[in-house]
Amino acid sequence: MLVSRRDFVRAAAGTVLIAPGLAAAWQPEGAAGGKGGEGTWFAWRGVAPGAHVAIGEGGNSTLLIAGGHALLVDTKYAPFGATLRREAGALGAAPTLVVNTHHHADHTAGNSAFTGDLPVIAHENAAPRILAQTDRYRQMLRAGVAAVSGATGKPPAAIDRVTREARARADAEPGLTPQSWAPTKTVGAEDALDVGGVKVAVHHFGPGHTDNDLVLHVPSLNLLIAGDLLFSGLHPFMDPPGGATSRGWIESLTKAIALCDDKTVVVPGHGEVSDVAGLRGQIGYFENTRAAVAEAIAAGRTREQAQAIDLPEYAAYGLRDLAQKRALGAIYDEIRAGR
Ligand SMILES: [Zn+2]
Repeated sequence: MLVSRRDFVRAAAGTVLIAPGLAAAWQPEGAAGGKGGEGTWFAWRGVAPGAHVAIGEGGNSTLLIAGGHALLVDTKYAPFGATLRREAGALGAAPTLVVNTHHHADHTAGNSAFTGDLPVIAHENAAPRILAQTDRYRQMLRAGVAAVSGATGKPPAAIDRVTREARARADAEPGLTPQSWAPTKTVGAEDALDVGGVKVAVHHFGPGHTDNDLVLHVPSLNLLIAGDLLFSGLHPFMDPPGGATSRGWIESLTKAIALCDDKTVVVPGHGEVSDVAGLRGQIGYFENTRAAVAEAIAAGRTREQAQAIDLPEYAAYGLRDLAQKRALGAIYDEIRAGR
């Protein structure tokens, strides 16, 4: 099991752990097991030859191992950076390159365990947003030891080990600077990486989930790492101050779908590993929600009333309390602004 969301929220309560609302934007519990086997903190899923996804403690992280190199995509919550690095290394090759799919703290807070000696790449719009989150990252590190040591459903030895790692990160916190989390290299619309001979195309399709989303495409593995452009089986978290727009999100997804076929493995930012149907379903979510909100506006409903719209087709989706009202409100604002 993971450090329960409840435990982590409780440990971090009142400390402004991460971006408003994002504290809860992590995995459904019960994802233990998977590739990596017994004794790993994260649930690791093998998704393609040499490619693994770590679920838990923030957004999904993807590890791509090839030719003695390893690309790590996204670094989870701050206390788990060192744990992620160790467990990634145990799968075959220590990370040699890190990419952040966007600036949200559940994808970047672990960066400080990597920036000292590895290149960390993010979109150019992510860099100032990451720098602005330094206090939040520090608070996460300080709250981490209590959260990890109080975890339930993990073997005691694993809790001890990860608590030691979280404590080491917390002890290092006073010596860290904003640069300890910042990307060491930024990219614009496109970039091309070589990971031990495997080509990885990096795309920014414009504003979507944020104004700095990166999508990674590995053609030789037919693998797409979608970041938070895809919330798989979950209500999508909308952050307009971070650049989110439902219309842009739909456009970005449309461009991502153009890279896929019916066999493409799509790694979401949150939720279980998916495929092109998942991307289409995410578009459907926004189209349906926009239509429902537009109807409410046409009927003279207020923003609050629009936020209370029932979405029965998504009744089984997770993150309802965190994300549904927020999404409806953001979409209301967008449509009222003529977007
Ligand atoms: Zn996000």
